[in-house]
Amino acid sequence: MTTAAHADIEEILAALADDRDREALVHHDRRLTGGELADTVHRLAHTLDGRVRPSTVVALLAGNTPEAMAARYAVNLLGAGITQPHEGLSVEAQARIVDDVEAALVLVDAPHAAPAAEILDRAAPVDALGLGATDHWPDVLAESADAPAEPISGRARPGDIEQVRHTGGTTGHPKGITYTFAHHLRTAEVREHLSGFGTDGAGARLLVATPIAHAGGAIADRTLGGGGIVVLQDGFEPGTFLDALGRERITHTFLLPPLLYRLLDHPALERTDLSALRSVVYGGAPANPRRIAEAVDRIGPVLSQFYGQTEAGGISALTPEEHGKPELLETVGRPIPSTEIAIVGDDGARVGPGERGELWVRTGTEMDGYWKQPELTAETIVDGWVRTGDVAWQDDAGYLHLVDRVKDMVVVVGGHVYTSELEDVLMDHPGVRQAAVFGAPDTDGAEVVHAAVVPADPAPTGAELGDLVADRAGAMYVPREISFVQRLPLTGIGKTDKKRLRAELTG
Ligand code: AMP
Repeated sequence: MTTAAHADIEEILAALADDRDREALVHHDRRLTGGELADTVHRLAHTLDGRVRPSTVVALLAGNTPEAMAARYAVNLLGAGITQPHEGLSVEAQARIVDDVEAALVLVDAPHAAPAAEILDRAAPVDALGLGATDHWPDVLAESADAPAEPISGRARPGDIEQVRHTGGTTGHPKGITYTFAHHLRTAEVREHLSGFGTDGAGARLLVATPIAHAGGAIADRTLGGGGIVVLQDGFEPGTFLDALGRERITHTFLLPPLLYRLLDHPALERTDLSALRSVVYGGAPANPRRIAEAVDRIGPVLSQFYGQTEAGGISALTPEEHGKPELLETVGRPIPSTEIAIVGDDGARVGPGERGELWVRTGTEMDGYWKQPELTAETIVDGWVRTGDVAWQDDAGYLHLVDRVKDMVVVVGGHVYTSELEDVLMDHPGVRQAAVFGAPDTDGAEVVHAAVVPADPAPTGAELGDLVADRAGAMYVPREISFVQRLPLTGIGKTDKKRLRAELTG
């Protein structure tokens, strides 16, 4: 019998099976129909039944492959949770994640067999199966070929773990963020308020080049459930991405801002057919108003911004229409209807209108807690409010302005330098394509500001940029050092990797 806890996954599978012959999932030169994908999921679930028990966690060492999508659904149907570490993390970090969740089973897709073998060498002993032929583990997909394709009834109860997600890891060791199946249902309710964001069902052709373990996966689920097609790419490469946009007549996509800038800076953008494109949602990291205005100009009035957090869920959004007003590009939009916000000062009290403070939010879609870290959970979720760790202020019209991550702010002699504010000043120079700002200790131990910029042609000089900053933000904001780099390192999900940048430039 269907219970509410996994109704969403069963709905996706029913939508796939209902229209069996429609194309559903594209990966390289493979094109799977809805029926093929639904059958694979059910066969896999029947085969894993008994080996995967409700409320355990299965680690998925896999990329953006059809096998990984099928494994997520099959494991969740059996009432177990998934953790899919970002491939961009080191093998040690991924092994720690496998150990940390006490994985009941590890599933490995064929392209990840080599790194997975190294990860499992370092992790505590654990059963593993291949999602396809590998040299190391039995192929559970081959085994499942003879299993029945009849729908399996879901086993999840609302309190069972659905997913443990590890944050981007831009700073520090990644934390496990736990979602239960009950969370999944709450998210489905909130989505009612978000029509138009991400996908709009049948006819949608979604391109996913960011990890399915992050926002890309949830958007892919909605597209498949709504009768659309998902085109999966292994990772983001601007040329391949643009090629797919035109060839697959992509209607929807999701990108982090640094990836959007790479598209804008790619020569093939001008000759790409974007006529099918209806929605480009960006978010996950600060976006620069000048570059977003450029994107609207060159890609069309299809951009919308989403601000959210793995811990908190969806917070605010800026619609395509609002992208027509340049001053609104300085903001992250207005809170979505289901989200309540408070801006809180150091003393724990709400600040006055227009003042800066830490953003606290009540979303209804917050995490169920950090994996095995109750103290950290209690520090982060206070009386139902999630402390976002973002510094923000709200203007008279209700638009939210994000200033920085509390942890990224650089404490310099005389005050604070907000890194994303300084990045925006630098990127306002037409000779700067991208900028990243971080703090690093000086020889005497004090923190000083460093900037890395990706120059355009002609490139500005460091002195020119220093003058611009002094003029616009004051002498305190002028970076001690400005490095000119070819490109900024990115994390597995596509955020600027400031930790790596700091190590590369100051280590
Ligand atoms: P994650 O949990 O990895 O998705 O990261 C969430 C954090 O990314 C937020 O707390 C913000 O600091 C940042 N972020 C997400 N979306 C936006 C956005 N639209 N603009 C600026 N920063 C964002």
